[in-house]
Order: sequence, then structure tokens, then C-alpha cells
Amino acid sequence: MNDTERSPLGVVRVRGSRVASYWIETLGCPKNHVDSEKLAGRLQSQGFRAAQSVDEADLVVANTCAFIEAAREESIDTVLELADHKARSARLVVTGCMAERYGDELAEALPEVDLVAGFGVDIVEPTPVALRSRSTFDLLNLPRPQRVSPWAYLKIAEGCDRRCGFCAIPSFRGDQRSRSRDEILAEADSLVSSGAREVVLIAQDLASWGHDRRRARRGEALEVLDQGGSQPIIELVKDLATRAEWVRLLYLYPSGLTDELIDTIIESGVPYFDLSLQHVSRDLLRGMNRWGDGARFLERIERIRERDPLATFRSSFILGYPGETEDDQRQLVEFLEAAQLDWAGFFTYSREEGTASASRDAHVAPELALERLREVSEIQDAISSRRRDALVGTLQRVLVDSPGRARSVRECPEIDGVVVVDPQLPVGSFAEVEIVESRGMDLVGVVK
Ligand code: SF4
Repeated sequence: MNDTERSPLGVVRVRGSRVASYWIETLGCPKNHVDSEKLAGRLQSQGFRAAQSVDEADLVVANTCAFIEAAREESIDTVLELADHKARSARLVVTGCMAERYGDELAEALPEVDLVAGFGVDIVEPTPVALRSRSTFDLLNLPRPQRVSPWAYLKIAEGCDRRCGFCAIPSFRGDQRSRSRDEILAEADSLVSSGAREVVLIAQDLASWGHDRRRARRGEALEVLDQGGSQPIIELVKDLATRAEWVRLLYLYPSGLTDELIDTIIESGVPYFDLSLQHVSRDLLRGMNRWGDGARFLERIERIRERDPLATFRSSFILGYPGETEDDQRQLVEFLEAAQLDWAGFFTYSREEGTASASRDAHVAPELALERLREVSEIQDAISSRRRDALVGTLQRVLVDSPGRARSVRECPEIDGVVVVDPQLPVGSFAEVEIVESRGMDLVGVVK
């Protein structure tokens, strides 16, 4: 018997005493995963419970990603799959970056979907005004459900003040809005008290956190940071390091990596540097409207290694950006050989509407971009693998994420390899292990 009914706006109402349930499918980056957790927290505060499977849920939500073409295709496929698998009476909602960026087109193209809702629309009780408005409540400050793993992402800002030539994010996430220090610390306290031993800080441009708030007060420009100006993030990391055992920072724009921030990260005990480099050719970086070049990046990496020889580095790079030449590719290859990064991700350029690069000439043929990507991936795979091998015989302190799987400070959750450990080690505990074997990107650790 169908005990669910819907109002003309698609609001979920459940007859009788049964509690309505939800299912959220999340695509894309860690930032989206935090939004989904916040959404889950809000749904729970509205009386919903998590469903065990999509077919038993009364409310099915697809939190989409619109970063590049491949991500959009995956998001659409996921929505169609959810439409196939959900109960007939269940309501299907599409939210996230695709909803924000292509709301009207999506609603028209996907008749299976009951509601396409941008950020901040209450998907349970949408009002006609909310459906059109940009933000009726702030996802950033919503409560989160109980933790199931010993680490948690903590989003400290939304949006971005930069305008990189390939990136459409500022066009739909807006300028940077930093959360206040008090809000962040309160959320960190609540994560730690619910079992998080590690907090992973995320934002579009993490090193610029707080700058929008200060700029609003003092009229400073973002360039102050690029010239080595002081950074509110430093005090925030110090505060957080007194609360959580590990504090990890993701997405560091390279000009924001000042000496003081480097020291703060090293002193926090998690010397993990996730540098958002994108390329190393100076000409290409200027074409991307980005700071720096290979020589400057190498100089910073060396400076960090001088301070802490055990520091870990991750970065990501775009291949095939308009105007990219064989010489740019050679510079990238030389940089990778010299930098010896622990981890790196490579992506081919995706032409995004509304970005500065979309209208540029000299687009690189997709096959050539792919060929260049394969070349650098092969080089980096060999480097990453050698760096993993070199850890055999070392002692590492690891955090047990799930039975038999742990990580040291060298591995970021969900992105890097893991340390395979004894499945009897309690989840959420720390252990000292000796690395006895490397298996590709993973290591095997034995308690000493
Ligand atoms: S720093 Fe550049 S790539 Fe990153 S979100 Fe901002 S505009 Fe996009």
C-alpha cells in the first residue's frame, strides 16, 4: 500500500506513524560530500531517517557535480539510475553544482525529476520563492549527522575570489564566503566529540580563508595575500590543532603557502602539502590567470623539505589547456622529475561555458591532451611507486579508518593509498606500525 503522498510542490508527507526516509547519492569532490552530510543532518532534524537502500527511500536526492564534462555525464547517468531504482511514490530531487548551474535546462531535460534545487533550497518544504532564490539557508552552518569514520571533512569557506581561466566554480558558487572562526571551532568540537580524530579542512582556496571577512572590514585586496600578507588561516589551524589530533589542509593555492603557514602546518604534526599547481609553465599559468611557475614551486617544495624532510606532497595538473605547447609539456615533465611529488592527479582540459579559456583560440586536440596526460601519468606513477617502496622498513603512526585499513599522515582519506593493517585493530585507534611491504600505492603495516 502506498502510504506516501505529495503536495503540488512535491513535498513528502507520510501517512500514519511510519518515519519518512531519505537516500542521498553524492558525486564529485569532498566539498560536495560535506554538503551531503549537512543535508542529511537537516533531513534528520526534520524527522527523516536514513534509508537502507534507494528503493525503500521516500526522498531520493542526487547531489551532482558540474566541474567538467565527464562529471556532468556521470551525474546525469546517476540521476537516471536513481529514477529507475527508486520506489514509484518516492520523490526525486537533484541538487548540487549541476542544479545550480543548469537548473532550468535540467528540469526540462529530466521529467523523471520532481525538483531541481540549487544550494540552500529546503528540499523538503520548498516554497515557490525558495525555488527561484539563490540561498534561503546556509548549508555551511547546518548540523551534521553522527560520524561513522574517525575522520571528517570540515568546510571552512564557500566560493572563490580567484578567476582561473578554466574554472566555472566562481560563476555558480560565487565569491568567497568564509565561515567565522567560532562556527568552525564549534563544528570541530562537535566532530571530535562524536569520534573524529582527524579533521580535513576544505575550501576552494583554503589559504585565503578569512580574507573576505578582513577585506570587508579593511578594504584589502586579494593580492595582499599573493604578496605574502598575513593570513587568518594560520591562527585557525593552530586553534584546530589543539582540538583534533590530526588537522589536514587541502587545496592550497601556491602563493598562499607562506613561510609562516608552512611552519604552522609542520608544527601541527601533519606535514601534508596539497598544492594546487595546475601547471608549471609560466606562460601557460598566466594564460590561466594563475600565479607562479615551476622554478618558484620547486623553491617552495625544497624550502619545505629543508624544514621537514618527511613532508608529503600532492598536486594536480591540467593537460591540454588552450595554447599549451610541446615546450610546456617538456617543462612539466622536468618539473615532475625534479619535484618527486608523492601523489599527483592529472586531468585533461574541459572547455567550460562562461570561463575565460572557453573563447580562447589555440585549443589543443583532445587526443593530443590525452597523449600528454598518459606521458606524465606514467612518469608520476613510477615516482609515486618508488616513494612508497622507500617507506618499507620505516615506523609509521597510523589511524585505523575501518577494519584492516589505516592511514599515516602521508595519506589523505579517500584520495591517496592506505596502510593495510591487522583487522583486529579497533577502528578509530592510533597504532605504531612497521611498514613491511609496499603493494602499488598501498603499504602493509605490522604493529611493533
Ligand atoms: S582557485 Fe581557481 S580553480 Fe580553484 S576554485 Fe578558485 S577559480 Fe576555481
